[in-house]
Amino acid sequence: MLSRRDAAIRLDIPLEMAAHHGIPARLSEAELEAIEQDPPAWLVQSRANRTGTKKTWVRLECVVCGYNEDARPKKWWPDWDYLMCDYHAPYQAPEPTAGFTRSEVDGIGSRFIALVDDRAAG
Ligand SMILES: [Zn+2]
Repeated sequence: MLSRRDAAIRLDIPLEMAAHHGIPARLSEAELEAIEQDPPAWLVQSRANRTGTKKTWVRLECVVCGYNEDARPKKWWPDWDYLMCDYHAPYQAPEPTAGFTRSEVDGIGSRFIALVDDRAAG
């Protein structure tokens, strides 16, 4: 069985939209395939209205252990070089390129820290 969240990710729609249009909390793979094969009018409309390349969901993946999750992108997210789970030690992440300084932004998704490497000033 798939969750409504799984279905929303597969259909590339927000979770609220899936709930609003009656995607059940649990559904089978066959039921989801039926929706993909014969999309209801609201889904066709939603896809037609999509502008630009802004993604509904992004895959977050830890560079250290490979843990990943799909999350709704947030406007405040930085443009990171790496993500890692918040309990890893900083040294476990790949070294920043020589001449770059690293800053960390926490609170990405459910458990990630974003590692942002910038060329050091001067
Ligand atoms: Zn990790």
